[in-house]
Amino acid sequence: MLHAKPSKCMICGSPIVGRKDKKFCTDSCRSIHHQEEKKKDPGLIKNINAILKKNRNILSSLNPEGKKTVSKSQLLSKGFDFKYSTHNFNTKKGTTYYFCYDEGYTLFEDKMVLLVRQTEK
Ligand SMILES: [Zn+2]
Repeated sequence: MLHAKPSKCMICGSPIVGRKDKKFCTDSCRSIHHQEEKKKDPGLIKNINAILKKNRNILSSLNPEGKKTVSKSQLLSKGFDFKYSTHNFNTKKGTTYYFCYDEGYTLFEDKMVLLVRQTEK
């Protein structure tokens, strides 16, 4: 077996005493490492961002004029995912508009979708 160099803690760089396969000097350094790993976890965020951007592009491509009625199946056939939106907006009449960034929509009569665009104020 190779004689490994004395290993150093991945977090603080202190030499590690004890078992050779240890990566951290103390439990507190180990827990810091695990917290940092958790924070990284880019997979889920990346996926959701990709879905939101795709949704936004679909809304935008179907709505060149800024306001248009389409069918729900038109959106679905392009791969629109109704689960994801960035924010929503309730009108006084109780209609909820869902937005993916600047592109929004509201559902009505079950199968129809009114596409709108948020304009900067
Ligand atoms: Zn350490």
